[in-house]
Amino acid sequence: MSILNLVYAPATVLEKKAHEVKNIDKSLKSFVNNMFDTMYKNNGVGLAAPQVNESLQVIVMDCSSKNKESNPRVLLNPKIINQSDTCKEYEEGCLSFPDHYFSISRPDSLNVKFLDLEGNKKETFFSGFEAVCVQHEIDHLSGTLFTSYISRLKRQIILKKMQKFKKNINKSI
Ligand SMILES: [Zn+2]
Repeated sequence: MSILNLVYAPATVLEKKAHEVKNIDKSLKSFVNNMFDTMYKNNGVGLAAPQVNESLQVIVMDCSSKNKESNPRVLLNPKIINQSDTCKEYEEGCLSFPDHYFSISRPDSLNVKFLDLEGNKKETFFSGFEAVCVQHEIDHLSGTLFTSYISRLKRQIILKKMQKFKKNINKSI
């Protein structure tokens, strides 16, 4: 197992549609383990493969709170099949945008179909914080970032801040 490098915005891999998973093999399973390690190490609750520079439809999540047992989930090729009409606002963060948080309104529950790591077709109902997380991560697979839900002006400001942030990282390496 190893910790993968996070891709910070702006980056092309974060803005394009990820490829469908076709082969569920050993290397995919070890990649998923590495994704979990990377997510936990960075105190994230969800991670999509493009965020570690793999354009693949793979999501890992664990939305359990600190005092509760962990609840790791892996979703391959996830698709939203229906969403509630009622929406809820949450303050969201993203590992590709360190230290930026925005209040975003999304449907408060939904059903998602996906493949598990054994290749079985699954359908799961998500609500509450998990619903927020799964929608945020599924967005990543189509190249949609959470900044697309905020105003254009705000988005431009964040983009400038992220460009500066990336420059500083490169300098310190
Ligand atoms: Zn994100």
